[in-house]
Amino acid sequence: MQLERILFSQGFGSRKGCRSLVRHHAVTVQGKPCDDPFAEFDPAGLEFTVNGEAWQYHEKAYLMLNKPANYECSHKPKHHPSVFMLLPAALTERDAQCIGRLDEDTTGLILLSDDGQFIHRMSSPKWKVPKVYEVTTKHPVDEAQVSALIKGVQLVDETGITAALACNVVSDNVIHLTLAEGKYHQVKRMLAAVSNRVEGLKRIKIGELDLPDDLAEGEWRWLTEAEMKMLT
Ligand code: URA
Repeated sequence: MQLERILFSQGFGSRKGCRSLVRHHAVTVQGKPCDDPFAEFDPAGLEFTVNGEAWQYHEKAYLMLNKPANYECSHKPKHHPSVFMLLPAALTERDAQCIGRLDEDTTGLILLSDDGQFIHRMSSPKWKVPKVYEVTTKHPVDEAQVSALIKGVQLVDETGITAALACNVVSDNVIHLTLAEGKYHQVKRMLAAVSNRVEGLKRIKIGELDLPDDLAEGEWRWLTEAEMKMLT
């Protein structure tokens, strides 16, 4: 594939812009400068730099982000900066989307991709990908609340009951709640339905994928092949 096309596919601007980057000596490929935008390379696994920043070719983008509080999962945020501000411009340019949203005050694991099929697979209610939330509550969680969350609660504006797949008590005011769906404000509404209140909310697991300990809040990274296999 021509270098100009490779850069274009990876989100480095228009074809013309990518051509200009190469001609202005901003690009190295496999460690060597390349100023020919039409030079041909096999893109699979290709390593290149743009203005000194290292990249690897990814046909599709699959990322994880540890979302901090006070960021919104939207391209048009209303009150806080967008989580997309935490990603390099090239990734937002190639239209990576959040797979399911977290509230602005929720922290933790969020997946992003520009692969429509993957986004659909991960967010479709049909696949019921479980998500685990660490919930800090205002009041201690008692046994009656745990069993109500598992048996199911009636949420306002929802038909039928909404139940957690699991609810593990970590300490008096901390539970790990596993949900199969992603209804609007679901954790907060479920805790309110058992007369409790969410004081802190962090997503710690999606499917078999845990939020890695070494991914600090605000940091992102590519999903590894092994992590992709866990998810699909
Ligand atoms: N449930 C909520 O209430 N908020 C979130 O951000 C995610 C799940």
